[in-house]
Amino acid sequence: MAFQAEYLRSITGPADLPEDEFPQFAFIGRSNVGKSSFINAITGISNLCRSGSTPGVTKKVNLFLINKKFYFADLPGYGYAKLSYKERKELEKLIFWYLSEPLNHFQRIFFLIDAQVGPTSNDQDVLKYLLEAGLPTTLILSKTDKLKNSEKTRQINQIKQQIPPHFPIVPFSVKTGEGKKDVHKILGI
Ligand code: GDP
Repeated sequence: MAFQAEYLRSITGPADLPEDEFPQFAFIGRSNVGKSSFINAITGISNLCRSGSTPGVTKKVNLFLINKKFYFADLPGYGYAKLSYKERKELEKLIFWYLSEPLNHFQRIFFLIDAQVGPTSNDQDVLKYLLEAGLPTTLILSKTDKLKNSEKTRQINQIKQQIPPHFPIVPFSVKTGEGKKDVHKILGI
């Protein structure tokens, strides 16, 4: 099934939240993890999100209406080293507010971690938050094409040791198409 996606607006605070209650799929990860490429790949719309955009510049949640049925919420990438302390704090505030906002109905959070790098300390903070908040989350291990099969297995096993048992994981690559079907299944498409 083809995706129909409509950019709705950018959210920086409660006044920008949509009035309707369509369920949301949210996308979160550190800058450069491959989040824009992931969203473009799963929708098949190559320019929906701007890949390779200057990290740390986007300090807003971009909301897209998909197939007039649900929202995609693209959260700003975190962990960009060149941000000032104040900018980092503002970014964190926006992300954690958005995730905790009771008006948002999350069907699933796609939490992206670079398969090669593994979870950074920022990623671990986000994971802790998602677990404590009880948000339905799937871990996307991005850029798996960068790893040889043996390394990939080792890396996935290592990452599994850092998350609760049976936590949903999808290894993903925009280059090989790995994981795309699994994500479509989660989206119900
Ligand atoms: P974002 O900052 O999280 O939105 O990351 P981008 O989607 O802009 O990707 C960051 C960089 O990683 C870009 O140079 C992408 O081309 C590259 N990238 C993204 N996904 C993949 C992937 O699956 N495999 C490889 N090899 N590179 C990827």
